Amino acid sequence: SKIIVALDGFSSCGKSTTAKRVAATLHYAFIDTGAMYRAVALYFHRHAVEVSDAEAVEYALKHIEITFAFNVGRQASDTILNGENVEQEIRKMFISEIVSQVAAIPAVRHAMVAQQQKMGEKKGIVMDGRDIGTVVFPQAELKIFMTAQPNIRAQRRKLELLQKGEDLPLEEIVENLRMRDEIDSNRTEGPLKRADDAIDLDTSFRSMDEQVNFVLDHVRR
Ligand code: C5P
Repeated sequence: SKIIVALDGFSSCGKSTTAKRVAATLHYAFIDTGAMYRAVALYFHRHAVEVSDAEAVEYALKHIEITFAFNVGRQASDTILNGENVEQEIRKMFISEIVSQVAAIPAVRHAMVAQQQKMGEKKGIVMDGRDIGTVVFPQAELKIFMTAQPNIRAQRRKLELLQKGEDLPLEEIVENLRMRDEIDSNRTEGPLKRADDAIDLDTSFRSMDEQVNFVLDHVRR
């Protein structure tokens, strides 16, 4: 029978790519919750919503609709913000610079978590994020907590950004990952945290195939 797979961990450990491939193999749905927070951050940026302005945040959240468009050919899911495909835009560095501050707002988390729980009503889902095994689906049948050495994560992220046309110095990427880890780990609402019943997966010296097979092996147990 179908289950819920929760993949949590630090930024740039390969969560989304792993989740995507596991979902494709199992014919499960795949939800990248980081994309949802990134889309909210893009909306806040465009509409000059201050994170400290509770009223503006509430108002904005009422006007944000995030969906995913599954592209079977590319085995990808594009992020759609109020009808606009924002997949390329939300992956840029300027969003990575602001997303953690936006994701730390309790009202933002409540709105996103509610949507994520709705998406998981039908079993057979792989969801990646920071609080999936602890807050969104504490009842998930399989929880994986992914880590990797900071320098390896930064190298991977640099390559990823380069492929998307952004050539940034490694130090800037290292600093962004460090900052996001810190804000994500220390916020009061839904902090990045390993669930007590999670299985650890250190991806530092594993190929993507090995990561995917590690998760699939646990699904099949
Ligand atoms: O997964 P990704 O690195 O794209 O996530 C971007 C940011 O979104 C994270 O740094 C974090 O601030 C936020 N996030 C979150 N909770 C999640 C997923 C992402 O707070 N479940």
